[in-house]
Amino acid sequence: MTTAAARTLAGTDERQDLRNVAIVAHVDHGKTTLVDAMLTQTREAGAHGALEERVMDSGELEKEKGITILAKNTTVFYSGPAATKHAGMDNVTINVIDTPGHADFGGEVERGLSMVDGVVLLVDASEGPLPQTRFVLRKALNAQLPVILVVNKTDRPDARIDGVVSDTMDLLLGLASDVAEENPELNLDSVLDVPVVFASGREGRASKNQPEDGGMPDSDDLEPLFDTILEHVPAPKYDSGEVLQAHVTNLDASPFLGRLALLRIFNGTLKKNQQVAWARKDGTMKTVKITELLATKGLERVSADSAGPGEIVAVAGISDIMIGETLTDLENPKPLPTITVDDPAISMT
Ligand code: GDP
Repeated sequence: MTTAAARTLAGTDERQDLRNVAIVAHVDHGKTTLVDAMLTQTREAGAHGALEERVMDSGELEKEKGITILAKNTTVFYSGPAATKHAGMDNVTINVIDTPGHADFGGEVERGLSMVDGVVLLVDASEGPLPQTRFVLRKALNAQLPVILVVNKTDRPDARIDGVVSDTMDLLLGLASDVAEENPELNLDSVLDVPVVFASGREGRASKNQPEDGGMPDSDDLEPLFDTILEHVPAPKYDSGEVLQAHVTNLDASPFLGRLALLRIFNGTLKKNQQVAWARKDGTMKTVKITELLATKGLERVSADSAGPGEIVAVAGISDIMIGETLTDLENPKPLPTITVDDPAISMT
């Protein structure tokens, strides 16, 4: 199930209070630091209380390897001026999906991208785009996801911001022409309207104006980044008349709850203790009970009573559930088709 495919399925209703975005970066380009700064800057402003400070890729194995392996989600409760300006809301929940910028984690990348409606491409202001990000970007273009370029670490003395912006744009254009050649039915025009934000994640600063090489972005917070995300990443679309359709995009384990399935809800509402139909890959259907429903606050999973369309949640209680399967309505089950990001041409009908 791709996001692009889901958009075809989706109705015209919109969750303006929500944005789902993947962050893609080569290792060391500053993803963890930037996401931490996003959390820190929204923590006080948000009405959701203090969050424990932890880095995004704190898993031991990941620490050892120095790379982010699991597409995890972090939830930022944003309540700055861009919320009213672009969403007409006081608060917007931004789910940030940590996507490995590495072809070695192919399936992981696709599943990360299947949860989101846009991509933040984070590139070091000195190193520029590295070959490993090509794979992820190609997938993002295939899924017709809008891309925001964040040129990070503008403060580096060896920054070469002009060169990095043009290298990245060249890379995107090259990939887009490959993707368009293979899939002539895709319209990549809107996807290639790429806004650029300049940042120093370490200083928690951003700007839309290009700083000097080695200089600081002109805003003393990340507001320009939040503004660009809210403006450029579409609110999740859904059909308010449709039954529950939630797609399993990843699995996790909890010592207390057992297997957790990470889901993006495309339509309908999922409630704790609800009985739902579990549509399996082999075509069979089983009735299951959602024994626990978990939402994300910052980096923590917290128990929730219900979740609606566009939301990303974890559920417990289904021990054999697999990636790619659907939870749907018991009375009127409508499983989502299983399509891979590689096959955008497959029609949804
Ligand atoms: P990740 O691997 O992409 O998650 O990168 P990290 O956030 O762990 O950062 C990698 C390194 O870059 C660390 O040593 C950070 O201190 C450094 N770093 C992160 N952000 C900035 C920045 O804005 N400017 C500079 N100069 N260094 C940064």
